[in-house]
Amino acid sequence: MPELPEVQTVVSQLGQRIVGQIFTGFTSAWPRKVLTPLRELERGIRGAAVIGARRFGKHIVIDLDNQCSIVIHLKMTGHLLYKTPENRECPAFTEDKINGYIHHVFAFQGGATLEFSDMRKFGWIRLMPTSEVEQLQSIADLGIDALSPKLDQDRFRTLFARRENRSIGEALLDQGLIAGIGNIYRSESLFLAGILPDRPVGSLRAVEWDALLPAVKKVLRHAARLGGTSDGDFRDIDGLPGRFERSLFVYGREGLPCKKCDTIVKRIKIGQRSAFFCPRCQR
Ligand SMILES: [Zn+2]
Repeated sequence: MPELPEVQTVVSQLGQRIVGQIFTGFTSAWPRKVLTPLRELERGIRGAAVIGARRFGKHIVIDLDNQCSIVIHLKMTGHLLYKTPENRECPAFTEDKINGYIHHVFAFQGGATLEFSDMRKFGWIRLMPTSEVEQLQSIADLGIDALSPKLDQDRFRTLFARRENRSIGEALLDQGLIAGIGNIYRSESLFLAGILPDRPVGSLRAVEWDALLPAVKKVLRHAARLGGTSDGDFRDIDGLPGRFERSLFVYGREGLPCKKCDTIVKRIKIGQRSAFFCPRCQR
């Protein structure tokens, strides 16, 4: 599932490629996940130019010059592909099966398209007034963004203070506290900070708190720079997988030796999701 670094990768790429482009139409073969009536969405974007792309948690927001915004959530397996007349037939688009589940297509003047490929079809699209985007329930419910400069040590501690009895692994996934950390990056952050994922929040010592927030930010920034982690199905808008895979210390490495100490990496379920850890590097 795409997390903050993957969605940030998409938003950065959209900012580079589609700003200034003008929509000519929209078609969908899976209208159930187009949360605005199809004709209304089509009419609302036709002739409008893209003025920017933003991210709220894992939501992608494409702002138009007519005071409307397209909001997209990739959910489990969704990703956006930007195709031009020149690259439409490139191997990434035609040979990678993951890029072949196209359900929705935005068309631009000049022949480029923005296509939504989504194997499991949970991802959604809607069109709304730009002024109302931040009131959208799933955006309004988000906690502070994990990469927000306003998320400092004090705020970090205060947020978790109300969750003393939960495990730190579970609390890190709570999007209402901090938005953007998912399964992959909680395991990696806790590894970097040397903290076991099942430790109760209330048991963390000051030195551990001091290590955790920098670890979270470091791992998210590093992953965003490398286009995220694909974990099977994420692709960027060029149809290519992320390059953070090789930098993973523990996520997805159950049964393999820890990259720092050779101890076998273990996996437990926390909050119904797998958490990976090294029983020696983490305490
Ligand atoms: Zn280790």
